Amino acid sequence: MSLEPLSSFNASRRRNGLWLLPLGALASGVAYVLSVVNGTLNPVDAVLSPLLFVGFLLMALLLWLHRISIATVELVAVVLLLVYNLGNLYYVGLSGELSRVGFSASALWSTIIYLLAFLLLSREKAMRVSVAYYVAGLLGGLVSVLLHPPNMSALNSIAQFYLANLAFLALLNVYAQLRENMLIMEQLAHTDHLTRLTNRRGLEPLLKQELQRAERYGLPFAVLLADLDHFKEVNDRHGHAIGDQVLREVAPRLDHNLRQADTVARWGGEEFLILAPTTDLAQAGQLAERLIEVIRSEPVVGSIPVTISIGVSCYRAGDSLESLLQRADEALYRAKALGRNRLELEIVSSPAAK
Ligand code: GH3
Ligand code: MG
Ligand code: MG
Repeated sequence: MSLEPLSSFNASRRRNGLWLLPLGALASGVAYVLSVVNGTLNPVDAVLSPLLFVGFLLMALLLWLHRISIATVELVAVVLLLVYNLGNLYYVGLSGELSRVGFSASALWSTIIYLLAFLLLSREKAMRVSVAYYVAGLLGGLVSVLLHPPNMSALNSIAQFYLANLAFLALLNVYAQLRENMLIMEQLAHTDHLTRLTNRRGLEPLLKQELQRAERYGLPFAVLLADLDHFKEVNDRHGHAIGDQVLREVAPRLDHNLRQADTVARWGGEEFLILAPTTDLAQAGQLAERLIEVIRSEPVVGSIPVTISIGVSCYRAGDSLESLLQRADEALYRAKALGRNRLELEIVSSPAAK
């Protein structure tokens, strides 16, 4: 997955946290006040409700001040809710209250544990945490029913609670499985099957993200369009299968010689596009020189000498992806015309095409 979807996903989790935490504090505060007014405050609630109230408010404040990560908030929220739900369940169960009146409205919060677990953890871990929580709750219910035989209405409430929780858990598991499959399919759709590099579809969102960043913060970035020289001859002389093998060997050689932040994609048949963030034209030229050298320096598939030509362009104010790529393409065309096995930089004096 690229960084942008992940960081925007985290940002949206954080935004949700910023209103859900005060909502959680409000819910526990209201529950506390109402049970005090009703005279139904039990000793477990008397401790846990204020704990939840303070915990949620404090985390909202820290989250707002950027002093705590959303992952930590979610983890602490899971632990708090887990302690609250199980604490309450065991209290109402063992005291006989559960068998008299069934579950109270606050039991609705128990499902949040599953949601948070699936949001926070991998599917297997989320299942383990959820099942452990469910079983712990179920044991509390069983002990309570055995110690205090419930009336029919309470029995119905207890049965509905455990069955609904089970259905919720099973459906979340199915959903998480679907999500996993979708991620795998997305990964496959963004990967070139021959070279295992990112394909055009995978690179395009990164290019757009880089373009936005350049527009917003004025950070320069460069693109390098690399094309194998006389590749048709390689195919003609050695056959298409060997041609494929050449592409398979060239791809990692390019990839391994990039910097951490750079990305290389198979852009078309024997064309590769390199995205170099925070890079000016001169630095991109040096990178292109290095890549040409690593391809030229050693034959591929045992003994086939190959070379590449590279056209380089760098973001300019007012650029679109098309104008930027077109200048790289024009530079590549010149590199080919000037004899191949070389790089050409875009011509800086010409105005950016809109
Ligand atoms: P130039 O130096 O001007 O780039 O010459 P070239 O022969 O590389 O350029 P041209 O565009 O004429 O030919 C590109 C060739 O790349 C033609 C095509 O059959 C071959 N090609 C494209 N994709 C693949 C592929 O996946 N596998 C193999 N084996 N060949 C491919
Ligand atoms: Mg070529
Ligand atoms: Mg080509």
